Amino acid sequence: MRAEFKNEVFVDFKDERNNAEFEAALKKVEAELGKEYPLIIGGEKITTDRKAASINPANKTQTIGIVSQADIPLAEKAIQVAAATFETWKRTDPGERARYLYRAAAILRRRKHEFSALMTLEAGKTRVEADVETAEAIDFLEFYGREMQRLSLPQPLTVSQEEENELYYIPLGVGVVIPPWNFPLAIMAGMTTAALVTGNTVVLKPASTTPVIAAKFMALLEEVGLPAGVVNFLPGPGGQVGDYLVDHPLTRFISFTGSRDVGLRINERAAKTHPGQKWIKRVIAEMGGKDAIVVDNEADLELAADMITTSAFGFSGQKCSACSRAIIHEDVYDSVLEKVVERASKLIMSNPAEAGANLGPVIDEKAYAKILEYIEIGKQEGRLVLGGGTGDSNGYFIEPTIFADVESTARISQEEIFGPVVAFTKAKSFDEALEFANSTDYGLTGAVISRNGAHLEQARREFHVGNLYFNRKCTGALVGTHPFGGFNMSGTDSKAGGRDYLLLFTQAKLVSDRF
Ligand code: NAD
Repeated sequence: MRAEFKNEVFVDFKDERNNAEFEAALKKVEAELGKEYPLIIGGEKITTDRKAASINPANKTQTIGIVSQADIPLAEKAIQVAAATFETWKRTDPGERARYLYRAAAILRRRKHEFSALMTLEAGKTRVEADVETAEAIDFLEFYGREMQRLSLPQPLTVSQEEENELYYIPLGVGVVIPPWNFPLAIMAGMTTAALVTGNTVVLKPASTTPVIAAKFMALLEEVGLPAGVVNFLPGPGGQVGDYLVDHPLTRFISFTGSRDVGLRINERAAKTHPGQKWIKRVIAEMGGKDAIVVDNEADLELAADMITTSAFGFSGQKCSACSRAIIHEDVYDSVLEKVVERASKLIMSNPAEAGANLGPVIDEKAYAKILEYIEIGKQEGRLVLGGGTGDSNGYFIEPTIFADVESTARISQEEIFGPVVAFTKAKSFDEALEFANSTDYGLTGAVISRNGAHLEQARREFHVGNLYFNRKCTGALVGTHPFGGFNMSGTDSKAGGRDYLLLFTQAKLVSDRF
């Protein structure tokens, strides 16, 4: 029997041997920069005239790869191939499907620094953040493999004397998988493998800024022998190709992780039935967040400051779970603010591929401009107490930025900025702090730092988020340990890395045999 699932252990970068190994992997990845990456449809590698360059956000002159771009005819071809492949793939034994995931996990584990190193270059992750992500990708593979095996066991039903009843979780069909750039390996791999291990076939449209890491994962799936056509790789402009895939009558479901606007657009388009379509499309959408850490007046203030700093500025705040609001009881407000400013001012912003960097750049020009615009808005809505500026102009560096005395209704308290910007809001009471915390359209993560047991119980009932954490950071969900996903405008309430996640990719068939 396969060993019980366990979370992958993170690499300790305080150990110089690990840094040395990482640097060797980085050299290997650097030697491959600038390569061309084709589309892959039914195992066929297709190079197109239209190409897009993926660049290093920390060094705009460095090209990570040149990626062929799909157009509508190729999107059509990908859907047709996925639909044809589904006819055989759906009949493969679930154990066999799971084994592809276990093999991929084993190779990923062996070559983890190589994948992480590529992420430091393509996504601007620090060594630590990239390693945590590679570990998460391994976890998804190991966890979903086991979950599929569990779901393929006989399911408990009420016993009948005259009938034999069995329930099977069967696949849905062709799935369009649209991941974000901010977890370009883990979320992309998790969404893709959840779909395929349950017996579906996939058209994978990687995020436009991080297609090379997705191409590397495709190579891994090929290496483990996954049959051609099960996952079809279709990089291309989100708007054009994305709409076509979503609208297609053969698309059975769409698994999306990304912004609220795109998620809502997909949900709306998927609701329309097209000629030849036989089903209601299923949409699994994991969207944005405006996550808060609440600090009570009875709390460990050093812990509070540590948790806010880590949650707000890890990966430059570019996590859906990042703390973008710090809601602090008035009794401890000045003290917590001062401690966070002190910690954040010591963060080292530099090339994230180098050892010792605490934060790197933001992902691209568009994000850079948007975040700087929000910083200008913040100057009207609050008191700038740290940062606000930019760094090395070779990359999209933005300083850790803290605004104090921001109203909970302000734009920077309500809208997702997705950058290293946190708004501090003062609350008169714990009740008011919770009211502020719940006052956005989102409901993804949140944390409460408190020593007051009654307040923690109250938060347990009233703080309406999918992932609620007490006396710890609001980022860093672990597969299997903290199933992840939020409420309201944060998505369709799914839980990635949880025991009910794979059900979203299946339909249950009951067979009743009377004898
Ligand atoms: P995005 O919405 O801009 O893009 C996500 C994906 O959608 C990309 O692959 C993009 O190419 C594609 N896309 C764009 N337009 C499309 C269209 N019309 N049809 C189909 N696909 C289209 O988001 P992003 O900037 O890549 O990611 C950041 C966002 O993702 C943030 O809002 C963040 O909170 C969210 N996020 C949520 C979770 C979660 O689990 N809830 C996890 C990570 C990121």
